[in-house]
Amino acid sequence: MLRPALGQGPLLPPQPPAVRRVWCPDCGHVFHASAKALSLRCPRCTHALAPSDYQVTGSLRGDLTVIGRVDIPSQMRMQGRLICGEFTNQGQFIGQARVGGPVELTAESQTRGAIACHSLRMAPGAKLRAKAAIGSMDEPPPRASLSMGSRPRAIGPSEDYHA
Ligand SMILES: [Zn+2]
Repeated sequence: MLRPALGQGPLLPPQPPAVRRVWCPDCGHVFHASAKALSLRCPRCTHALAPSDYQVTGSLRGDLTVIGRVDIPSQMRMQGRLICGEFTNQGQFIGQARVGGPVELTAESQTRGAIACHSLRMAPGAKLRAKAAIGSMDEPPPRASLSMGSRPRAIGPSEDYHA
């Protein structure tokens, strides 16, 4: 077995630049871009995209568009319309979610409303009561069914709500 000599770290091969999968919520195009890029432009529709991730804290009520990943941690809630690249719900989500990549619902999670996503993984115990469309998200839905505006939207002010 080969072991590095003491006091000498293993030699790492040059790392390829980190790449992230980006899904354009405007036209549905999927492309890959540097994970370090702070701003991107969709090569198909040329719309500017901000590749951010977002973690919900407290109770969020409103619409949220995020190119990257959205997490609702345990005990946290979101109610509204969500467009994002990946979505993990460990808390409570009520609304409509359109996700270009995978959705993961953990055992404690509650999800109600409608979900369209590329793939869905549910832990035993996860509660899901929603219309679901699962499969390729490479094409955008008809505008009529999207009906949430085409541009990324700022996050509204948080506010408590009672389900
Ligand atoms: Zn696009």
